Amino acid sequence: MKLFDNTEVAFSLKTDSQLERAYFLFKMIQNEPMVRIGSAVTNFALKVHLPVEGLIRSTVFDHFCGGVTEDDCLPIIDNMHKNGNVHSVLDYSVEGKDEEISFDGALEKILRIINFCEEKQSIPYAVFKPSGFGRFGLYVKISEGKTLTSEEKEEWNRVVARFHKVCEVALKKDVPLLIDAEESWMQKSADELIEELMETYNKDKAIVFNTLQMYRHDRMDYLKELHQKAQKKGFYIGMKVVRGAYMEKERDRAEEKGYPSPICKDKQATDDNYNEAIKYMMEHSKMALFAGTHNEESSYMLMELAKKHNIKNNDMRLWFGQLFGMSDHISYNLANEGYNVAKYLPFGPVRDVMPYLIRRAEENTSVSGQTSRELNLLKTERKRRKL
Ligand SMILES: Cc1cc2nc3c(=O)[nH]c(=O)nc-3n(C[C@H](O)[C@H](O)[C@H](O)COP(=O)(O)OP(=O)(O)OC[C@H]3O[C@@H](n4cnc5c(N)ncnc54)[C@H](O)[C@@H]3O)c2cc1C
Repeated sequence: MKLFDNTEVAFSLKTDSQLERAYFLFKMIQNEPMVRIGSAVTNFALKVHLPVEGLIRSTVFDHFCGGVTEDDCLPIIDNMHKNGNVHSVLDYSVEGKDEEISFDGALEKILRIINFCEEKQSIPYAVFKPSGFGRFGLYVKISEGKTLTSEEKEEWNRVVARFHKVCEVALKKDVPLLIDAEESWMQKSADELIEELMETYNKDKAIVFNTLQMYRHDRMDYLKELHQKAQKKGFYIGMKVVRGAYMEKERDRAEEKGYPSPICKDKQATDDNYNEAIKYMMEHSKMALFAGTHNEESSYMLMELAKKHNIKNNDMRLWFGQLFGMSDHISYNLANEGYNVAKYLPFGPVRDVMPYLIRRAEENTSVSGQTSRELNLLKTERKRRKL
């Protein structure tokens, strides 16, 4: 039996009724039209304040999220850590609130989470999204090389100050920080800022981590260029490597605006690009890798690479990451072998995490192929437990 086929370890933390709920949920979201219609109806119901929050909570929300507040998540975090050796990354998943007050609120939230990380071994990283700290349109304007008004310059200075504030505290408390990647047309300005942060805060080890979306065909070149800069300037590279979550949006925008799509030509090209990036990172020193993936092949490959380069399973320069509610067969089996594993554990008010939940539901329809795998694993485990 291959490592990830062990469903007993994979679902060891799930009670029979939790297993049944997961099975029911994945059966439901396997149906693509139902997800499409369900998402539209739910968005509408929330907009007109119909009382659907309870229903969302007891289905998708509780499966993919830890709770409404970070404190709600603590029992889940403790359980995963104590009984599965799996860590958590508290992910404040409120999206699309483009206003100063919510940027300052997000900053406070992340600082509080860094305190949690310092106290709790079970929460090894803090994480945030660039658009959580500043206006999406502002990142776009800078990425496009347009000149900012004096007001916008001040606004950008406030964004930069928020980034520096979290990095200063993270460095002081020795808590590494993951910074998510978003749409390609805003990412350039975020990348440039994060490079400066790596140069400032990653002098002795990787504290600041950027994210590479390997569905972008230009990312391998970007990694190599960054590596040259890092060698010249003497800083460590921290990198979360993912495939990328906004493929449809990227392709649609490129087509609409008439520029070449930044996305690899097909899934195989993305997979090859992903595997090349993790290989490159494992081959070079002064790099720390957080591999955010549900892909079995890439995960097996990374285990092999670690072995080849004499990197111990629990070496802090290598982490595997999955999303809460997905691919437990990878997370728990890796953790059982002593690898460093963390689940992104999203939290936030139900209506504010809807965009995140809809992305998860869409990713898990039969079309994307994830669900059949989750369903098969759940089926195997139900059979094993004679449910
Ligand atoms: C811990 C963690 C953190 C994450 N952080 C981020 C983040 O900061 N930013 C972000 O954008 N995403 C992030 N993601 C999501 C991630 O980018 C993927 O969407 C998701 O993990 C699915 O990819 P996979 O590697 O797990 O596996 P797979 O299921 O093997 O791959 C699916 C992915 O392959 C790519 N793909 C699928 N079809 C094609 C095609 N026809 N052509 C080209 N490429 C294709 C797409 O990226 C798709 O999401 C994160 C995921 C995890 C687990």
